[in-house]
Amino acid sequence: MQNTLELDCGRQIAVRHSSRARHMRLAVDALGQVELVIPKRGSLRAGTAFANSQRRWIARQQDSRQAQANGLAERAALDSLGRPTRIPVHGQWIDVDWTGAGGHWSFAPRATSAALVRELKTLARKQAQASMDALTPKLGLAPKALTLRDQKTLWGSLSSRGRMSLNWRLVMAPPHVLHYVVAHELAHLRWRGHGPRFWSLVAQLDPEFETARTWLRQHGDSLRVLLA
Ligand SMILES: [Zn+2]
Repeated sequence: MQNTLELDCGRQIAVRHSSRARHMRLAVDALGQVELVIPKRGSLRAGTAFANSQRRWIARQQDSRQAQANGLAERAALDSLGRPTRIPVHGQWIDVDWTGAGGHWSFAPRATSAALVRELKTLARKQAQASMDALTPKLGLAPKALTLRDQKTLWGSLSSRGRMSLNWRLVMAPPHVLHYVVAHELAHLRWRGHGPRFWSLVAQLDPEFETARTWLRQHGDSLRVLLA
């Protein structure tokens, strides 16, 4: 169940009590939804006061993310069934056909966006596999399995058993971005944390990794807006 809180300015934000949170904090997702996280010992009253003290920041975040989301939806030119007729693939916008005319990005008139997501996942897997094939000989280690998922906050992860998960949405970014996330997760096969040894291994596997990290910081959220 989602609890909401109305700020003095009339805006609504979500409220969540967390036993793990240590401080009161505000989080904003790609669509501009703001959530107030209250630690176990914090009260709703203190949370409300905190959120109200931050309401200018909240307004700025909500407005800019919503504008970005609306801009993307506009570029994706949704049809009357809410399906995108344009989509970024490997960082380039391509046309998606929903008349069944034929071709790689053509789908039956009655197909839903799920068909497009499946196609993007397949492509993401191929791309990730190619990156792994290029990188695992350098590392001398390989993950046990690869799963494409739609994580809400992560781009990739590696389980303690060596299973790699990647966010399929990375296939929409410029190709180097997914390659970097694969290199990052592969480096975790050797080093668990994000210490200096970990980052120097990432740099060995992907010398250009800083560019991809910057891209993700600046544009990563936008990948979560389409086909949500
Ligand atoms: Zn990591």
